[in-house]
Amino acid sequence: MTAQDLAGAVAGAAYIVAALLFIMSLAGLSRHERARGGVVYGMVGMAIALLATLWLMVADAWGTPAAMLGLILLVVAVLIGAVIGLWRARTIPMTGMPELIALFHSFVGAAAVLVGWNGALYTEGIPANLEGIHHAEVFIGVFIGAVTLTGSIVAFLKLSGRMSSRPLMLPGKNILNVGALVVFIALTVWYVITPELWLLVVVTALALALGWHLVASIGGGDMPVVISMLNSYSGWAAAAAGFLLNNDLLIVTGALVGSSGAYLSYIMCKAMNRSFLSVIAGGFGIEAPAAKGDDVQGEHHETDAASVARLLEGASSVVITPGYGMAVAQAQSAVADLTRKLRERGIEVRFGIHPVAGRLPGHMNVLLAEAKVPYDIVLEMDEINDDLAQTDVVLVIGANDTVNPAAAEDPGSPIAGMPVLRVWEAHNVVVFKRSMASGYAGVPNPLFYRDNTKMLFGDAKERVQDILAAL
Ligand code: NDP
Repeated sequence: MTAQDLAGAVAGAAYIVAALLFIMSLAGLSRHERARGGVVYGMVGMAIALLATLWLMVADAWGTPAAMLGLILLVVAVLIGAVIGLWRARTIPMTGMPELIALFHSFVGAAAVLVGWNGALYTEGIPANLEGIHHAEVFIGVFIGAVTLTGSIVAFLKLSGRMSSRPLMLPGKNILNVGALVVFIALTVWYVITPELWLLVVVTALALALGWHLVASIGGGDMPVVISMLNSYSGWAAAAAGFLLNNDLLIVTGALVGSSGAYLSYIMCKAMNRSFLSVIAGGFGIEAPAAKGDDVQGEHHETDAASVARLLEGASSVVITPGYGMAVAQAQSAVADLTRKLRERGIEVRFGIHPVAGRLPGHMNVLLAEAKVPYDIVLEMDEINDDLAQTDVVLVIGANDTVNPAAAEDPGSPIAGMPVLRVWEAHNVVVFKRSMASGYAGVPNPLFYRDNTKMLFGDAKERVQDILAAL
C-alpha cells in the first residue's frame, strides 16, 4: 500500500465517522432536550470532515509546488471565511438569524455554480464512457446552485425588510415557471449531446432568473416554507457539487440536508394547510388575493399595565401566545417571571406556540427554554386551540399573523386557510404591541377590533415588567 493509498483510507474512515456524527446531529436537533448535544455532534463532525479533506489534499499535493500553492491559498481562504463567520455569528441578534441563514444558503448555491463551471472548463481525466454523465452533473449542479443562489438572496432581502414581503404577481407567473423548467430539461439533453459553453451560460442566466422569480412570488405567510425549501435546495446543490468533486462526504451531507429540508418543508406545509407542490412551484395556483383584506374595521380599545394586572389577578386560567415581537423586545425572561408569579398564586398558565411564530422554526421554544419556562406548560397550537374558549385571559405577546382571525374567517385574505391560534374565543384578550401595524404577512388583523380584545401598547418587555410591578 502506498502512502497515498493509506492517506485515502484514513480520510475515508474519517468521512464515515463524520457522516455518522451528522446523522446523530440531526437526530439530536429533532428534540429540544437533546438539541445542544445535536449541535456539538454537528460541530465535531464538521471539524473531522475539514481535517480529513485537508489531510487528503496534503497527501496529494506534497512535493508539487503548484498544488502546494493551491493548498496554501485554500487554508488562507478557510481562515478568512472562519474569521468572518465567527464574527457574524457572535454579533448577529437572534432576530437576525433567519436572514443570516438565508444568506448562508446563497453561498452554498454560489459554490455549486462555481464547482459546476469548473467541472465544465476542466474535463481532463474523465473516461469517455462517463462524459455524458459528467455533463449532466455539471448542468444540473449549475441549475440547482443558481436557483438556490438568487432564491436565497430574495429570501434574505424579504426577511431583512429590504424587499416587500408581499408576493410579486407577474402576469402568467405559473407559465413562466413551468416554461423555465421545460426549457431547462430541453437544454440539459442538448448539453449532454453537445456540451457547448454557451448552453451553460444560458442555463445559468435562466436559473438565476427562475430562483429570483420563484421566491419573489411567495407571500410573507409562506416564507417559513420557502426557507426550509431553500435549505433543502442548498443540500441538493452541495450533493451535486459532491458528485463533480468526487467527494463522498459532500454527497452524503448534501443528501442529508436536502432530504431533511424537504421533509421540514412538507411538515410546515401540512401545519399551515398549504400545498407543498404549490409552494415549491413559486405559489403555483395561488392567485392575487382580493383587495378587501386591506380595509379595517371599527375601533380598538386601549388598556394599561395596572388594568391588565387586575385582570390577571382575577383569572384562574391564562394562556400566553408569543410571537416575533417577543423576540424583538427580548421579553422572554420578563414573561418567564410573570409566569412564575402567576403560578405561585395558583393561576394556571400555559403557552400556545404556533408552528411559524417568530422567524425560525422553533424560535419561540428556544427563547422560552432560554428563560427556563418549564417544557410541560409549552403546548403546540393543536394541543391548546380547543381550550382557548374556556380560558379567562390570553396574553398575545408580540404575535400578529399567527393569531389573525382573517385566516379562519375571510376566504379573500392572503393568509386564508392557514391554521391560527383562535385566541379571540377566550373571555379576554390582551395584545402587546407598539402600534396598530400589520404583521409580517402585511395583512390587517381584525382581532384588534374585537370587543373582548384590549390593546396594551409599547415595548413588550417594558409592559410585562410594568405588569410585574403592579401585581
Ligand atoms: P408577526 O411578524 O406577524 O407580528 C409580530 C408583531 O410584533 C408585529 O405586529 C409588531 O407590531 C410586534 N412587535 C415588534 N416589535 C415589538 C416589540 N418590541 N414589542 C412589542 N411588540 C412588538 O409575528 P408572528 O410571530 O405572529 O408571525 C410570524 C410571521 O412570520 C408569520 O407571517 C410567518 O409566516 C412569518 N415567518 C415565520 C418564519 C418561521 O420560520 N417561523 C420564517 C419567516 C417568516 P408593532 O410593530 O406594532 O409593535
